[in-house]
Amino acid sequence: MISDLVIIGGGASGFMGGITAISNGLRSVVILEGTSKVLEKVRISGGGRCNLTNSCAEISNLVDNYPRGEKQLLGLFNQFSTTDAFDWFQKKGLSLKVEKDGRVFPSSDSSDDVIKCLRAVAKKSGIKVVTNSHVKQISKIKEGFNLLVKGKKFYKAKNILICTGGHPSGRRLAKRLGHTIIKPVPSLFSFSTSEQSLKSCAGITLDVQIKLTVNNKNYSEAGPILITHKGFSGPVILRLSSFGARSLHTNKYNAKLRINWLCMSENEARLILDLYKLENGNKLVFNYKPFKRLPRSLWRALLRSLNINCQLKWADLSKSEKESLIKCLTINHYLINSRGPFGDEFVTAGGVSLKEINFKTMESKICKGLFFAGEVLDIDGITGGFNFQHCWTSGWVAGNSMI
Ligand SMILES: Cc1cc2nc3c(=O)[nH]c(=O)nc-3n(C[C@H](O)[C@H](O)[C@H](O)COP(=O)(O)OP(=O)(O)OC[C@H]3O[C@@H](n4cnc5c(N)ncnc54)[C@H](O)[C@@H]3O)c2cc1C
Repeated sequence: MISDLVIIGGGASGFMGGITAISNGLRSVVILEGTSKVLEKVRISGGGRCNLTNSCAEISNLVDNYPRGEKQLLGLFNQFSTTDAFDWFQKKGLSLKVEKDGRVFPSSDSSDDVIKCLRAVAKKSGIKVVTNSHVKQISKIKEGFNLLVKGKKFYKAKNILICTGGHPSGRRLAKRLGHTIIKPVPSLFSFSTSEQSLKSCAGITLDVQIKLTVNNKNYSEAGPILITHKGFSGPVILRLSSFGARSLHTNKYNAKLRINWLCMSENEARLILDLYKLENGNKLVFNYKPFKRLPRSLWRALLRSLNINCQLKWADLSKSEKESLIKCLTINHYLINSRGPFGDEFVTAGGVSLKEINFKTMESKICKGLFFAGEVLDIDGITGGFNFQHCWTSGWVAGNSMI
């Protein structure tokens, strides 16, 4: 029997694609999942809470969160955006909440509820979900496609939707059907350094704007930062790793990170220091700091890195010591020498080339009846629910475009 649609991959984009396709009139929809469990990434996402979208509703701002795919998503989000995803889940019975920073989670804080919702809707719609069905080969035939599944099972489909996420097998299948693959590289990781000067500050989060620049202004971001045992992490570092994913990979993760701890110019810092020095001459530099935003341990670590004596009083701080301190606070360099552990979220940058996809439908321009959605494409976002949003959007558009 030939199915209207066979979906390869039971993740976020596969479920959204299947549910939309069947509600749009397709009669027989099958999801083939290679492992024993569907929606496994949804389960582990957001630290088990699943940050399933973001409240950012303005499409021109929303696309800024995608280092790859920004242009293509502009049109896609006009079809199905963050507010549509929010309403979609609420209408399917999943209660959602928006956090202060705009991230959207299930009200229960449990990713299991997102899975239950998607599975229940898929079941009610009549979608057949077959696990332990790793698709090994796809061949184009006159009526559609033949699929060979591990264990020598065969499926036939009029349309296929490849939603295999960052798994290499999906890219291989796409390549054999004529698609170009943009080399996959990791995105959303922390930075490691072998420099020791901030070791005593490990575990400190600076929840203020910190200005960071990688490789001489190639990428520049401001936001909270976390000092780790091995280097730096936090939202702003993950964002930098995402925008710099490809060039950082090319340079084997050797980069120069410049930190402006004060998020102000040298001149502004000098004015504040001069006044403080004048008013606090009798006090110890190590114990009294003019910048409240800097935790004491970081202040001391920076002073130690300049070999400033811990008994020095503000009145005795020499001009050259003061100037080095200003530089250290506003232009502090660290040599990054490797990619650190991943944060809460990890995605692949790279995948099926966007040039070969019709972004009105998510159909391949090379092979009729072949559709793509989700992370298998060369599209990825920063943390904050943007990666799932792309999955819901591309899955929804693909599901709506099949006949
Ligand atoms: C730890 C972690 C936390 C994350 N947290 C968040 C978050 O909170 N918010 C957010 O927006 N994003 C998050 N992400 C990113 C998000 O999970 C992914 O962007 C998203 O899951 C991609 O969905 P997808 O449907 O494209 O692929 P996937 O969810 O990866 O699903 C692909 C499926 O295809 C199956 N498959 C692969 N090859 C085959 C084959 N040949 N045959 C059959 N099946 C196959 C796989 O087993 C898998 O089940 C997180 C990622 C990680 C790793």
